[in-house]
Amino acid sequence: MSTKTAIITGVSGQDASYLADLLVEKGYKVVGTLRRTSESERANIKHLKGKIVIEYADLIDSSSLDNVIQKHQPDEVYNLAAQSVPADSWTHPIYTGEVTALGVVRLLESIRRFVPACKFYQGSSREIFGGVHQEVMDEQTPFLANNPYGIAKLYAHLMMRNYRESFGMFTCAGILFNHESPRRGLHFVSRKITTAVACIKLGITDPPLDESGQSLVRDGKVHMGNLDAMRDWGYAKEYVDAMWRIMQQEKPDDYIIATNTLHSIKEFCQIAFAHVGLNWEEHVFSDDAFKRPTEITASRGDFGKAKRELGWEPKVSFEELAKLMVDADLERLRK
Ligand code: NAP
Repeated sequence: MSTKTAIITGVSGQDASYLADLLVEKGYKVVGTLRRTSESERANIKHLKGKIVIEYADLIDSSSLDNVIQKHQPDEVYNLAAQSVPADSWTHPIYTGEVTALGVVRLLESIRRFVPACKFYQGSSREIFGGVHQEVMDEQTPFLANNPYGIAKLYAHLMMRNYRESFGMFTCAGILFNHESPRRGLHFVSRKITTAVACIKLGITDPPLDESGQSLVRDGKVHMGNLDAMRDWGYAKEYVDAMWRIMQQEKPDDYIIATNTLHSIKEFCQIAFAHVGLNWEEHVFSDDAFKRPTEITASRGDFGKAKRELGWEPKVSFEELAKLMVDADLERLRK
């Protein structure tokens, strides 16, 4: 069992909550940060009550970060907080830059000044490759971010590397392709589908609101964007194990974490609706209002380096993932 202290930013989020579970299990003292302005009910961390320490810090406010770093003197910091919704980044480009790009530098500066020996993990994204036309991406793929979120993540990624090179700090990153779970936010496509499936199947009359502020299910249909968009989709619970392994390496480095398989949103709909005996075509409407102004290319991630050096590989298949998410939403709504 470990006696290390880890700070996880954005602990109410999908990945951070799974990582908190993992580190608590490993015996870490886990300090999770939330921001004061959050209105979320924090469902993802309810079960961790009493098992982790909660602190309030915002990536926009460097003094709040300094306070937490100085107070807890962490051995490891995992930065999983971000304005994490690519679709929202076109309407909030400045805010996205403040949080997702500059917020990381605020955190790095705080670590450099107060705990320079602390290890730092950055939640990098496949979106830093953006529009690169390459069927399979690996750690050598050039960066060509093509939306405000991806560009902010790229700035953060390069700054993370720069602190490694300039100051010799242990800074590393997982470059993660899409990963989903029952803890995924409702404004992301996978959860939107599985929640709609559960609402339709159970005949829920007051479904939650979608990202446009309208009912998630309207006239028996869920409104989606580009159904042909392809993604490399994995299971978040497995991906946080890769984060921890990256931080335990002797030398800091960056790793692609992915499944090396590609599936469309249409396929996700097919599997999710069929799982409860429904025909997706009767319940899904492709709505231009939800389409992205620019699409990232359809590419898979080569996790070969992670497999060789970290002993990590994905196990849950795309089909299993879609089904387990539907099952979780059915259970949640039945309650
Ligand atoms: P998530 O569920 O959306 O969680 C993001 C967290 O960041 C939330 O807890 C949110 O808090 C917090 N946050 C937002 N703005 C903040 C601010 N100004 N200061 C402090 N905290 C703030 O994201 P996720 O899916 O777990 O992803 C974790 C990280 O990996 C993110 O950085 C994301 O960009 C990156 N990533 C995700 C994927 C993926 O497919 N999931 C892929 C590649 C990279 P509130 O609850 O208060 O909003």
